[in-house]
Amino acid sequence: MKKVLLFLVLVLLFTSIVQAASSKPNLEKITFVHYAKDHRGKPIWDDTVTDYRLITGGIKWHVTPVMYEISTANKPGYLDDNFIYNAISASSETWDDATGTELFDTPISTTNPVIIGDGKSTVGWGDLQPGVIAVTQLLYNPATKEIVEFDTILNTYYPWGNASATTNKVMDLQNIATHELGHACGLDDLRPPKDGELTMYAYSDYNEIKKRTLGIGDILGIQELYGE
Ligand SMILES: [Zn+2]
Repeated sequence: MKKVLLFLVLVLLFTSIVQAASSKPNLEKITFVHYAKDHRGKPIWDDTVTDYRLITGGIKWHVTPVMYEISTANKPGYLDDNFIYNAISASSETWDDATGTELFDTPISTTNPVIIGDGKSTVGWGDLQPGVIAVTQLLYNPATKEIVEFDTILNTYYPWGNASATTNKVMDLQNIATHELGHACGLDDLRPPKDGELTMYAYSDYNEIKKRTLGIGDILGIQELYGE
């Protein structure tokens, strides 16, 4: 009888070990929708405000540098591939420069479209509803608070470009990409009007470039996650 019991215990132990080894972590998805600013009022504060918010209490990348791809699939035809690559990689470099961790790897160019859940982090293009400038989604493991994938879609509804080099009405690619890549690192949106000059402020506008450079709150946030 004792031997039978011992055998049963061993079988149960073995099956639970096999299950633990083979089960994938239950990943959760979080979505950030970046809206065009309404024009009810201009923010009156500057980018020295110290506000930042971590996503769900501090999810972050555990494996760095983060590998990601810059996609030209579905891109607006008027945008040059090199311009897209250079603007977005300047954005990831901005976050990288603000922390002691080598945060982002040199991005890879791709012609594959953005697909959430394909195991690759990608910044690319898509047709979203008017009012939405961009959407970033994160996949993370809630048990370990580890981000495992991010994907950003920039809305081709809007005209895009380099606001420093044109008088046309454009969404500045580097400006918007820096905000979206802040989400990719683990920083949340800020909505109070006093945060209006920070990169992680939740709204943007045509020809805005102030999100290209980080404010004090943005730097404090990235350094809390990845060190000085
Ligand atoms: Zn946002």
